[in-house]
Amino acid sequence: MRINTLIGEENIKSRVKELADEIQKDSNGEEVVLIAILKGSVFFATELAKQMSSPVIMDFIKVSSYSGTQSTGKISFKLDLSENVENKNVIIVEDIVDTGRTLTYLKDYILINKHPKSLKICTLLDKKERREFELNPDYVGFDIPDKFVIGYGLDYDEKYRNLPYIGYIEQ
Ligand code: 5GP
Repeated sequence: MRINTLIGEENIKSRVKELADEIQKDSNGEEVVLIAILKGSVFFATELAKQMSSPVIMDFIKVSSYSGTQSTGKISFKLDLSENVENKNVIIVEDIVDTGRTLTYLKDYILINKHPKSLKICTLLDKKERREFELNPDYVGFDIPDKFVIGYGLDYDEKYRNLPYIGYIEQ
């Protein structure tokens, strides 16, 4: 098994900085709540937060929809937010949008139950050609082809999250 690089470390770093600048500009320096979806987007969310100088609150939510490399098609809720985000500018931070199922579910859940002032989506990676749900992230780091990717938070059976770059497995 070989791991090929799809997006290198330096490339990710500079794109994350650009996204952080864009988010700050759009929120006029107001406080934002970054909601990282456990576990995959923690690496991206913390790097994004570190590049922002306006006030940032971090929170976490956990759902699961994947096992191995195939989507199970079901979403189960594992951990709810710990912060009250009512009337706050909320950004859901995701590692990758694939079919769009997870974020469609989470977006509705937060809008209906948590009443934020605004709700946006920021994803590091977007696999647009796999989309099954109509979902357009507000901020996208990179559009990528339909490959199963690992690294920078993304796992294959819980391994490879700690790779500092995005790669794909060649069998
Ligand atoms: P969606 O609900 O959009 O179909 O899938 C989103 C979730 O599926 C992501 O948060 C991620 O956990 C998982 N996923 C989708 N594509 C990939 C991939 O290429 N690699 C890995 N490691 N996970 C993926």
